[in-house]
Amino acid sequence: MFGLNSLVWLLVGCFQWGSRAGRKLPDYTALDKSYEYDGDVIIIGAGAAGLAAARVLEENDVEYIVLEATDHYGGRLQEDRDFADFPIDLGAEWIHNNPEILDVLSGEDGVSETIDLVPHQLEDVYRWDGEEYKEVPQSALNGLFSFFPEHKFKNSTWFSFVEEHFAKKVAHRIQTNSPVTRIDYSADTVEVTTQSGDVFEADKVLVTVSVGVLKSETIEFIPEMSETKKTAIDSVPFLPGVKMFLKFSDPFYPDVVYCSVETGEKAFYDIAFKKDAEDSVLGVLVTGPAAEAYTALSSETEIIDTVLAELDVIFDGAASTNYLGEYRIEKWGERPYTQGTWVEGFRVSKRTRKTLNEPLDGRVYFAGEVYDVYQQMGVPGSILSGLNAIDRLLRDQD
Ligand SMILES: Cc1cc2nc3c(=O)[nH]c(=O)nc-3n(C[C@H](O)[C@H](O)[C@H](O)COP(=O)(O)OP(=O)(O)OC[C@H]3O[C@@H](n4cnc5c(N)ncnc54)[C@H](O)[C@@H]3O)c2cc1C
Repeated sequence: MFGLNSLVWLLVGCFQWGSRAGRKLPDYTALDKSYEYDGDVIIIGAGAAGLAAARVLEENDVEYIVLEATDHYGGRLQEDRDFADFPIDLGAEWIHNNPEILDVLSGEDGVSETIDLVPHQLEDVYRWDGEEYKEVPQSALNGLFSFFPEHKFKNSTWFSFVEEHFAKKVAHRIQTNSPVTRIDYSADTVEVTTQSGDVFEADKVLVTVSVGVLKSETIEFIPEMSETKKTAIDSVPFLPGVKMFLKFSDPFYPDVVYCSVETGEKAFYDIAFKKDAEDSVLGVLVTGPAAEAYTALSSETEIIDTVLAELDVIFDGAASTNYLGEYRIEKWGERPYTQGTWVEGFRVSKRTRKTLNEPLDGRVYFAGEVYDVYQQMGVPGSILSGLNAIDRLLRDQD
C-alpha cells in the first residue's frame, strides 16, 4: 500500500514517486490492436499481468493456456466480502493515480465514470515514533493529494475490477493448482513442466510470477538465465509484508497513523475511509523487518494481542476496550507463490528494467509491475506490462 508511504515521501521532501502520476500513459495498448499470430502461448501466473495478457490472446483467437500455481486467479489481488459490511481488499487497495487510469487499463473509455470511487484525500493523520503522537498538518495532506492524487474503490475492490475486465473473459483457459517448476527453451518449442510432472509445449511463454518467486529460484530455466539477468532480478527490492484487519465497536482511530520504521512501512489506517460502512475496521499494513517481527510470533492470537497492546499505548487502552474479537491476517511474504509485497518501480533503474524485460531467446517473455516502462507500479503497472509484453510477443515473429 503505497499511499502511506507516499505521505512519508512527501513529508521528507521526495517528489520522485509522485511525479510518475503525471507521466504519460499509453494512448493505446494491445487491447486496441489486432494481431495475426501463427503459434501458441503459455502464460505462467493468473495475476493482473497474466490475466491482462490472456485477454489479448482471447480476443485475437490465439491458442493459449494460463498455468496458475494456486487454486484461484488474482495473485496479489484478493478480496473478502464477508468480514465487514463492505468488501475488503486483502492485497492491492489503492489506485495510485487519477480515476481515468481505469479507462486505459480496461481499454474502455468512460469505465472510470461507472465505478464509485473515493478520493483518498486524508483529513486526520498522525505520526507515531514510539513516544510522540504528532498530527500531520492539513496543508501537508492537501499538498500530498494535489501532487499525488490517489483513489479507492467505494463499494468494490481492485480484485473485482480485474475479475470483471480480464479474469471472467479468460477463466476457461486457466488451469489452477499447476505450479510451474521448469521452463526449458533449449529446443524449438518451449517445454513447461509443472510440479505434478505434466509437460506443456508452446511456441512462446509469458512468465508473470512475482520477482520474489523468480528470486527464490523455484522455477528452473533451461538454459539458465544469464548472470546479468539474475543479478538484475536479485537487485530488485521486494519486501515481505503483512496486512491485518481488526473489527472494533467504535472508530477510536484517525484516518491514518503512520509509524516510524527504518525499512519498509508500518501504518494503522481506517480501511472504511469514506465508504458506505457501519462497521469499524482498522487496517494494519506492515512491510520489511517490522512485518517479519509479527510473523515470527508463535500464533495469530499472539500477533493480534501484540497489535492491540501497541494500539493501547497510543490510544490509552481504547483498542482493547473496543475490540470485537474479529480479525483477519494476510502474510504475503510467506505465501510461496508471492514471496513479498510489491516493487516500487521508481527504485528500479532504467537499465535494470531493460535487462529484466529482455526475452530469453525471443521466446520466453516477462511481465509484472517491475517491468512496466510507464513506471505505474502496483496493479496498473502489472496490467500495462502484461499488455506490453504480449504485444511484443505477438509482434516478434521469427
Ligand atoms: C499487501 C499488498 C498491498 C498492495 N497494495 C497495492 C495498492 O494499494 N495498489 C496497487 O496498485 N498495488 C498494490 N500492491 C501491488 C499489487 O498487488 C501488485 O503489483 C499486482 O497485483 C501484481 O500483479 P502481477 O500479476 O504482476 O503479480 P501476482 O499478482 O503476484 O501474480 C502472479 C501469479 O503467478 C502465480 N505463480 C507464482 N508462481 C507460480 C508458478 N511457479 N507457477 C504458476 N503460477 C505461479 C501466483 O500464484 C500469482 O497468481 C499491493 C500488494 C500487496 C501484497
